[in-house]
Amino acid sequence: MRAPGSDVEHGFPHLETVRAALTALYRRLSYDGVRTYGLSVAPGDVAFSDQDDLYLGVQRVARVMVRHLRLPDARVIVSFREMRHAANVELTAGPEYFIELNSRFKTHRRDIGAALAHEVTHVYLHRLDLAFPGTRDNEILTDTTAAYLGAGWLLLDAYREDSVSSQKLGYLTPEEFGYVLAKRALAFGEDPAVWFTSPQAYEAYAEGLAVARRDERQPPLAASGWAGRRRYARDRRWALGDPEAPPAVGAAGYAFETGSPPRVSFPCPTCRQRIRVPVRGRMRARCGLCRTVLECDT
Ligand SMILES: [Zn+2]
Ligand SMILES: [Zn+2]
Repeated sequence: MRAPGSDVEHGFPHLETVRAALTALYRRLSYDGVRTYGLSVAPGDVAFSDQDDLYLGVQRVARVMVRHLRLPDARVIVSFREMRHAANVELTAGPEYFIELNSRFKTHRRDIGAALAHEVTHVYLHRLDLAFPGTRDNEILTDTTAAYLGAGWLLLDAYREDSVSSQKLGYLTPEEFGYVLAKRALAFGEDPAVWFTSPQAYEAYAEGLAVARRDERQPPLAASGWAGRRRYARDRRWALGDPEAPPAVGAAGYAFETGSPPRVSFPCPTCRQRIRVPVRGRMRARCGLCRTVLECDT
């Protein structure tokens, strides 16, 4: 995990990988598997005061993460070390896993839950045998998984900025964490905003939520706005009027296929798997992967 205090990147530079991570997670866990993570880690479970014994406390918080991610036989052993990174985990066959935390966490205990959420999620993905090629993408998969399955709101809450210092944990930008948490909130009917102690985390969540809501208003979804619908109708005329025209993925993510009947494909707003439906007006479709029911106007 990247060290805190480095310059904080903003916006949505990793959005495509984040979205691919959501799809990969649904594919690997299935709808029923994802739904078992309906409850997030509770703030009280990871509270860690300066009066608590350091080593007992850190093991307790690690056990909270292990339990949350349902790794019943995994034993996580946490130690502290001076290092450049914030934290590190050794991925072995188990059942024992060794996590090292940067020594600075000894005096920044309130972020230990966030650091352990990320590292234990590495163990979880390792055991699921779910990985993306390359360190960068794999770290994005790890943060996305932690956030989507209810342990990662702590990672966004660890983001704090004031006039003299800034700190952030994880590889996603604060806004991208906000996006994944908002995706979770929309799918699970949960509001993580009440748990944030950092005002910057709250703002980043609001920005992520706006992008997540925009996903639900793209054509051919019936909830799309006037401008989107107009563009969609124009694209449809062009795509279906010329049988030689190759299917093109537009900015909104939909693509037409000629044939009888002609079809349109677009990403599911919940899991981002592509859905294919006939072009024939108002209809209701159901995503085969995450089971979201979608009102469409194709
Ligand atoms: Zn990592
Ligand atoms: Zn879906």
